[in-house]
Amino acid sequence: MIDFRSDTVTQPTEAMRRAMSQAEVGDDYYGDDPSVNRLEALACEMFDFDGALFTTSGTQANLLALMAHCERGDEYICGQEAHNYRFEGGGAAVLGSIQPQPIANLADGTIALDEIVAQIKPDDIHFARTKVVSLENTISGRVLPQAYLAQAQALTFNHKLKIHLDGARVANAAVAQGIQIADITQHFDSVSICLSKGLCAPVGSLLLGDERLIAKARRWRKVLGGGMRQAGILAAAGELALTQQVERLAEDHANARYLAEQLAQFDEFSVDMGLVQTNMVFVNIAEHVDVKQLGRALAEQGILVSAERVTRLVTHNDISQQSIGTLVQALKRYFSRS
Ligand SMILES: *Cc1c(COP(=O)(O)O)cnc(C)c1O
Repeated sequence: MIDFRSDTVTQPTEAMRRAMSQAEVGDDYYGDDPSVNRLEALACEMFDFDGALFTTSGTQANLLALMAHCERGDEYICGQEAHNYRFEGGGAAVLGSIQPQPIANLADGTIALDEIVAQIKPDDIHFARTKVVSLENTISGRVLPQAYLAQAQALTFNHKLKIHLDGARVANAAVAQGIQIADITQHFDSVSICLSKGLCAPVGSLLLGDERLIAKARRWRKVLGGGMRQAGILAAAGELALTQQVERLAEDHANARYLAEQLAQFDEFSVDMGLVQTNMVFVNIAEHVDVKQLGRALAEQGILVSAERVTRLVTHNDISQQSIGTLVQALKRYFSRS
């Protein structure tokens, strides 16, 4: 199968499978798992934080960050398109008693700084207490400008707020700009990153923060049922995600550009090349095309895409230039017949 639906579908590498089979493990509840400890120490170094926590998922890492920053009745400001507002089941509100204050994302994925300021609530019993601003980088494949991050950090500092990064794909953002991950994460009080997307680990994310924040998050992780025992089996793959898979993301980005250029040549598709900044391509499919039928026809040939009017195609470790060629040939055959 050639699977363009997401980078979450990546298979663990051979090196990961080997490392997992040989990983030294212990009971992580006791802090005894050497592989988890090594992964968390490595993450602290790479992201330049004092504390790190291995979590079951990016959703859990984001939730833990908000629950560690906030108390019941507090509020976080985020984008309307933010994953931790739209795509995490309202977890912060459901489980943390934390209210979201979403703000429209601009075309470049940012949220306007003056709009953030306008939404900060005064200290008054009518209002939830604004505590955190949460940004996302990359957001739908777009890279937030470094200057914007610095401005957002200064804003939160001046208003005595915390700033969180949903950095599920922060490694893509770093590679796309030719900078270190820490150059991005330095602007935040906490950061989540997914090891299980473009970085190919089978399971797991990390939350970074100061020691106090991570201690609180560790407590909530246990409460949420996210504590794991011999988790080093998973952390061993996570370590290789950070040491062996980050630079390789440049290939995914080059493949995404190639894919976008190929798709843009079809009359049935329009592609906004400006949005192709990392490993995602968004394709607008013409009204006369039956997208469900197209999706089925491709699936019959072993090619998986999300069959939507605006379709997101994602490049990753299991997509080669040749896979893209196979897709393009299948599309040409399909449109010449219909
Ligand atoms: C995937 C993703 C998450 C959640 O990660 P899971 O491991 O799927 O829970 C959070 N934020 C963003 C931006 C993501 O893309």
